[in-house]
Amino acid sequence: MKVAKFGGSSVASSEQIKKVGSIIADDPERKFVVVSAPGKRFSDDSKVTDLLIELAELTAQNKNSDYKLTEIMKRFSEIVEELQISQTVLNEIEQSIQTILNSEWSEQMKTDALKSIGEDSSAKIVSEYLNTLGLNAQYVNPKEAGIIVSNEPGNAQVLQESYEQLYNMRKMDGVCVIPGFFGYTNDGELMTFPRGGSDITGSIVAAGVQAALYENFTDVDSVYVVDPRVIENPEEVTKLTYKEMRELSYSGFGVFHDEALMPAFRAEIPVCIKNTNNPAKPGTMIVSEKDPETRCVVGIAADTGFSNLYVSKYLMNREIGFGRKLLQILEDESISFEHAPSGIDNMSVIIRDDQLTAEKELNVINRINSELNPDTISIDYGFAMVMVVGEGMMSAVGIAEKSTAAFAEANISIEMINQGSSEVSVMFGIRKDKLDLAVKSLYNKFFS
Ligand code: ASP
Repeated sequence: MKVAKFGGSSVASSEQIKKVGSIIADDPERKFVVVSAPGKRFSDDSKVTDLLIELAELTAQNKNSDYKLTEIMKRFSEIVEELQISQTVLNEIEQSIQTILNSEWSEQMKTDALKSIGEDSSAKIVSEYLNTLGLNAQYVNPKEAGIIVSNEPGNAQVLQESYEQLYNMRKMDGVCVIPGFFGYTNDGELMTFPRGGSDITGSIVAAGVQAALYENFTDVDSVYVVDPRVIENPEEVTKLTYKEMRELSYSGFGVFHDEALMPAFRAEIPVCIKNTNNPAKPGTMIVSEKDPETRCVVGIAADTGFSNLYVSKYLMNREIGFGRKLLQILEDESISFEHAPSGIDNMSVIIRDDQLTAEKELNVINRINSELNPDTISIDYGFAMVMVVGEGMMSAVGIAEKSTAAFAEANISIEMINQGSSEVSVMFGIRKDKLDLAVKSLYNKFFS
């Protein structure tokens, strides 16, 4: 049995859903289908999830939202009409939205419920359509499937008890079409995963039903060694390990959500990234181990949007508990951090910009000043992180040297270097305006 997950672009229009239909029909092992909400059909189109978020915002502000609802319904009605499936689905979708809008739920509950409508409707449409192809498909709600999550609106995490329940889905008849992106708490409240979280659902389902393979269908032929928007026609990656993929998707590789790997990894389900528009292509396999003969660096990932909280204090190395106290202050402000490279008398904490607000920054600075008495403290914005990724680094000599040479040749100053002892990646912190230049130079060193 396989789990096939289709991303937003794969279900963006009737034309795309027809391709999904033939992919499912092509392989009877594709028993579990997970779908995203309709995504963009062209570059400046809107994703249905974004429209739903706008609807939630307008409603929360008591503003007129009729036009947004019309826009959303138009997306679905076009798909339903063009696929020639029953209008009942459309009525059900509108009914679900109205129920949420007219409810007395909290703003947060309404937002999560509205956000889920994109995937929920997609799943209903796709299962109806598969039935017209004679495939005996059924829509399965995540509650019925057994996806139980933590009570964190917009940021839910799967709970362990889900897996036992999900296993029972193996007994279900025909093709099960499950909406991605959300689950339910033990109290029955709907919670969404972080944005792009349908990949997470696919992975949870694959782990739960003990699938032989988790196929993640998107709109690219494979994972590339570097962002194709920076380097034209970069090399394709045919195989990589879970750890490598985690590092790559964490730092900017958009093809697969960085939280989606863990369930598949723990259950040892291989993952394959494939293209809905070109399903004959083998895609990229993500597995536990790869051939030691293969090249050691698999990719170069890069991401912007980081700030550096820098604290220095003479004899910091001897002050027991300094690091813990500093991180405690961040915890108290609900700020998560990404990396913490340190020196003898200084410590940098790299934080994603979306974790910070002016108020939080002020609290952090004031508390560090008064409780830790540092010599200097600053928050510096505009950082980018570049990661050179590859498990083979463990046994290879000279990867850091080759990387630093690439930065030097491009005349880029490295502001930070971080490498954990697991040696799956080396991270370089640079100013964000130098990012593309850095990636190009690294690509030339390692791949061309
Ligand atoms: N539709 C959701 C989003 O746009 C989840 C997903 O597509 O994976 O974030």
